[in-house]
Amino acid sequence: MSDNANMGDVAIDTTFSGYQEVAGLKLPTRITTRIDKYPQFDLTVTKSTIDGETVALAAPEAVRAAAVPGPPPQVVTAEPVGKGIWWLAGSGNHRSVVFEFDDHLVLYEAPLNEARSKAVIDKARTLSSKPLTHVIISHHHFDHSGGLRVAVAEGLTVITYKDNIPFFKDLLARKHTIVEDQLAKTPREATFEAVDDTLTLKDKAMEVQLYHLKDNPREGTNLFAYVPRDRMLVQADLYDSTWTYHSWGENVITNIEQTRKLKVDKMVPVHGAIQPYAVMVKTIRSAPKGPQA
Ligand SMILES: [Zn+2]
Repeated sequence: MSDNANMGDVAIDTTFSGYQEVAGLKLPTRITTRIDKYPQFDLTVTKSTIDGETVALAAPEAVRAAAVPGPPPQVVTAEPVGKGIWWLAGSGNHRSVVFEFDDHLVLYEAPLNEARSKAVIDKARTLSSKPLTHVIISHHHFDHSGGLRVAVAEGLTVITYKDNIPFFKDLLARKHTIVEDQLAKTPREATFEAVDDTLTLKDKAMEVQLYHLKDNPREGTNLFAYVPRDRMLVQADLYDSTWTYHSWGENVITNIEQTRKLKVDKMVPVHGAIQPYAVMVKTIRSAPKGPQA
């Protein structure tokens, strides 16, 4: 048994099969590993050698003598990107966005893990005296949903595409006894708001429209946000200015321009740099043809 920051107590289960004789020993040619019920590795061994030449495998003295590094400090910066809208950046390439409504705040994205998302939630709460009440989680990948459990422990209502909810409920129900996280220490019922195709969050101070990304070749449960007042797109994994290939970029443009008929000026991402939408489109269309998702 081992601890996984997102899944809690997990069994690491390795199966050896396809034994063949090598120099008088029976050795496996297939090694498969699962973390809990999820496949991790499925390895095929093409060659086994007994008593072969090896390189020195011992760690160098300087490495062995070094102290075990602690968790990296979480830096969270808040850059205003519109009236009542902040881009929370800092450590790493996983950003969140805060929207200020008339009497509450809404966070877009609870990234990576408890440490990052707790720091982001704490920072959001310094931006206004209004309570932070909701988190929009764009999709299920852990670099976007790893803060789900701490967001629930902090009392936030989770807004997400409907098909993410069974997986999120599974994550919330899991045992975290090997390393107790905040939700394990202070259990709390989760509240979900499921988005079917679109959802508009609106009051007199702010309007945020949420859209399901349709027919995307990479994954099917992504929600992006649009602020009509600022013609601003807020998105996760649809586009990253640092990518070489944009294999599903054309689908993203279709979603924005044809399916949803949105007029976008500014693109505010979870990964990569803030850019004018025109630059995003140009980058997608001038990128080399890459591997398909
Ligand atoms: Zn991502």
